Amino acid sequence: MGERNSGSKSSRWCLQGMTALVTGGSRGIGYAIVEELAQLGATVHTCSRNEAELNESLKEWSTKGYRVTGSVCDVTSRVNREELIATVSSQFNGKLNILVNNVGTNVQKQTLDLTAEDFAFLINTNLESAFHLSQLAYPLLKASEAASIIFISAIAGVVATNLASVIYSAAKGAINQVTKNLACEWARDNIRTNCVAPGPIRTPLLEKHCTEDTLMNAVISKTPLGRIGEAEEVASLVAFLCLPAASYITGQTICVDGGFTVNGLNLF
Ligand code: NDP
Repeated sequence: MGERNSGSKSSRWCLQGMTALVTGGSRGIGYAIVEELAQLGATVHTCSRNEAELNESLKEWSTKGYRVTGSVCDVTSRVNREELIATVSSQFNGKLNILVNNVGTNVQKQTLDLTAEDFAFLINTNLESAFHLSQLAYPLLKASEAASIIFISAIAGVVATNLASVIYSAAKGAINQVTKNLACEWARDNIRTNCVAPGPIRTPLLEKHCTEDTLMNAVISKTPLGRIGEAEEVASLVAFLCLPAASYITGQTICVDGGFTVNGLNLF
């Protein structure tokens, strides 16, 4: 098998010579993932919708000496997705080691207020785009002979929380299952598939949906580690799962949540 863990100690813990596509890398968790992968030696392509913000991030990475390129892409558009993979294919000579399906967003409404448009938008952004990009990237991943797909899910796909709408949660729950199916179906092609489910992480998305101190304090009080997480703390797990050192891990959904999802009732 292509990726079996037989390299030297240092090559098991680095991504030198590998190529990666990270969707939604211009800020937040995606930004931290791009940095982490690039620091470990990968050549990374990323995308987002806002060109100015993307260019700003690309400039920062170039200053730091990281090999990162980017293109504007709205992953909710089927045509844009096809163009993105064509760009990646030509840039990386038809091979891709790592696909991180990071883009996701929430519409915070009660169930009865959600519209058909909300449903289509949330399912497309959080589920269909990641699924279709994985299909499109499959030949490139297979050609690399040692590949990893990482889906960025959410603890809302593992436990019920009304910080997230039910459609967002359902889409993330579906992503957790897609992870298991692809892990089994594509193992023969040396493609591992894992899923990272963050708890509340300090990013522009969280700040948009968790504006009140009381809400933030409620989240913190349910979190055993007693704080909100940082994007880098998600990125480090994503990078680990892509390393040759993780070559026997596939089909898993791992929460990065300060213990939120394992917390029961703590009375004393
Ligand atoms: P942010 O909103 O902070 O960043 C999202 C990134 O994705 C930006 O680069 C944004 O750029 C890009 N993006 C958004 N929509 C699209 C689109 N349609 N096409 C292309 N790019 C897009 O989000 P986070 O970093 O917080 O979240 C990242 C992932 O982590 C998501 O899947 C989210 O569900 C998940 N998550 C986050 C948690 C948190 O507390 N922050 C908790 C649990 C899960 P632009 O807007 O310019 O397109």
